[in-house]
Amino acid sequence: MPAPRPSSPFPASAAVEWPGRVVLVTGGAQGIGKGIAEAVLDAGGSVVIGDLDAEAGKACLEEWNAGDRAAFVVLDVSKEASVKRFVGGALRRFGRIDGLVNNAGIAEAHTGPVEDLAWNEWKRRIDTNLGGVFLCCKHALPALKKSNGAIVNIASSRAHQSEPDTEAYAASKGGIVAFTHALAISAGPVRVNAINPGWIVVDDWKKPSQRRKPKLSAADHAQHPVGRAGVPPDVAALAVFLLSSQAGFITGENFTVDGGMSRKMQYV
Ligand code: NAD
Repeated sequence: MPAPRPSSPFPASAAVEWPGRVVLVTGGAQGIGKGIAEAVLDAGGSVVIGDLDAEAGKACLEEWNAGDRAAFVVLDVSKEASVKRFVGGALRRFGRIDGLVNNAGIAEAHTGPVEDLAWNEWKRRIDTNLGGVFLCCKHALPALKKSNGAIVNIASSRAHQSEPDTEAYAASKGGIVAFTHALAISAGPVRVNAINPGWIVVDDWKKPSQRRKPKLSAADHAQHPVGRAGVPPDVAALAVFLLSSQAGFITGENFTVDGGMSRKMQYV
C-alpha cells in the first residue's frame, strides 16, 4: 500500500486564502502599484496603499469603491518617520500585515552622463528606490513575522541590462535584487522575492488628471517576443502569486516579467 499523501500545505483556492489578508503596497496609487493593489482586491484581500500623491490615492479609493477593504496613507518611502506612520496606521486599522509590496520608486531611469550627475540626484534615486525598500521592510517585518507573511520587491530588468546614462537607477535596482536575497536568508520563514518588470505601459493606471492614451508604435510592441509591451496586471499576477501560500517554497528569487525582451540575442 502506498503511504497516504500529506494534506496540501496551502488552501485550495483564493476564495479561501485571501479574505482577511492585508497587503501594503507602496506607490500603490498609480502605475504598477495600482495594478497590484487591484489584483489583491480582486483576489479578496485588503490593501493599504501608501503614496506621495494624495490626489491619486483618493482617486483610487473612489474608483475601487471597496469599502473597508481599501485604505490610503500619504507616504514618502525615503523618510523613516513617514514609513513608521504608514505601517503603524495599517496596523491600527487592520490589526495585521500579511504582505508588503515595495513598489514605490522614481521610475524615470535616465539621469544624463555620469560626469554631470549631481550627488544629490544620485542620492535621491538611491534613497527612494533602494532606501525605501529597506525602511519599509525594517518597519513591517515584526508584523510580517507574526503572520508568516511575504514581501515582494519591484526591481527592474535594468538591474541586469542597461541603456547609457542610467547609472543611478540601475544601481538602485541592482541593490534591490541583492537586498532581496540577503533579507530572504535573514527573515525566513518570511519569504522575500523580487520582480523585474520590463517595459510596462502605465498610462491607463495614472490618476484621472494624468491619464493619457498610450503612445506606442507597432514596432514598440512587435519587438517583444510576446508581441506586445506589458501592462500592470502582467506584473500583478506574479506579485499576487508570490504573496500567496502557493509560493510557500519560493524565497530569495528574482523573476523577470518582460515579454521575453531580455532573452533576445542582440546582434543588430
Ligand atoms: P509610476 O510613476 O506610474 O507610479 C509610481 C508611484 O509611486 C506614483 O504614484 C508615485 O506618486 C509614487 N511614488 C514615487 N515616489 C514615492 C515615494 N518617495 N514614496 C511613496 N510613493 C512614491 O511608476 P511605475 O512605472 O508604475 O513604476 C513602479 C515601480 O516599478 C517603480 O519602482 C519602477 O522603477 C518600477 N519599474 C517600472 C517599469 C515600467 O516600465 N513602468 C519597468 C521596470 C520597473
